[in-house]
Amino acid sequence: MFGRLLGKNVLITGASSGIGEACAYQFAAAGANVILTARRGDKLASVQSKIQESWPKVLVHTASLDVRSSSAVDSLISSIPSPLSSIDILVNNAGLALGVDPVSSLTDSAIDQMLDTNVKGLLYVTRAVLRGMKQRGSGHIIMMGSIAGLVGYPGGSVYCASKGAVRAITEALRAETIGVPVKVTEIKPGMVETEFSVVRFGGDQERADAVYKGIEPMTAEDVAETVVFAASRHPRCVVADVVMLANGQA
Ligand code: NDP
Repeated sequence: MFGRLLGKNVLITGASSGIGEACAYQFAAAGANVILTARRGDKLASVQSKIQESWPKVLVHTASLDVRSSSAVDSLISSIPSPLSSIDILVNNAGLALGVDPVSSLTDSAIDQMLDTNVKGLLYVTRAVLRGMKQRGSGHIIMMGSIAGLVGYPGGSVYCASKGAVRAITEALRAETIGVPVKVTEIKPGMVETEFSVVRFGGDQERADAVYKGIEPMTAEDVAETVVFAASRHPRCVVADVVMLANGQA
């Protein structure tokens, strides 16, 4: 079933931890080559070493990238070495939530960082990769949305807005690619325990843990399995939209 991924080139943003890192291993296990990006180059190097140890035939390229810079995104995409340069699958995963603050207490910095990363960054990467996919007449773009794009929660105004935007971008892109053999998928996870959970509360582990009261959160691997499942369907079918919740999550 995952044989369809053998030799495919997969670009993953936010591959230095959490869901992106788990996707890197699962794509590599399926024989896909991976291009891994994030800001923390040291973390990417360690993901690369693990992949090279476990799946030596897989090609891995890593590059430090802040998706908030459109020029950095464009120059990264144009400098990926052959044979990895033609991207078959993009996993648009880089993202973050900063703080759980009511609207009246939001800082400019939190607003800018979330919207610039989760919305503008995702658009920059999509735009840069889509050009090549359209030229080649094939490709698959997988967006990491969130259930926060479907429902608001107190303190989530900016993050929810950003993931609502991911949903809107996905739907617009799907409409734009009617008749073009480029697939578009959005995965909308609920609670997943990753660094995200702690970053959100500025490093306060106790507050982060309190969110999961009585519920076992999903793991990054759970979400990565769904990403790889979507990416490995037959060319004639598209897994368009997936909502994944932790069991018991409202
Ligand atoms: P992590 O914090 O573990 O991963 C986030 C990744 O995004 C990191 O690799 C980080 O790398 C990268 N990143 C953040 N900012 C930037 C930037 N400006 N440029 C490039 N890369 C960046 O959290 P998750 O794995 O949980 O999050 C992955 C995605 O899943 C996000 O889009 C998140 O919104 C989404 N999601 C998470 C849920 C959860 O409960 N955990 C639920 C629903 C969706 P680095 O810091 O090295 O740049």
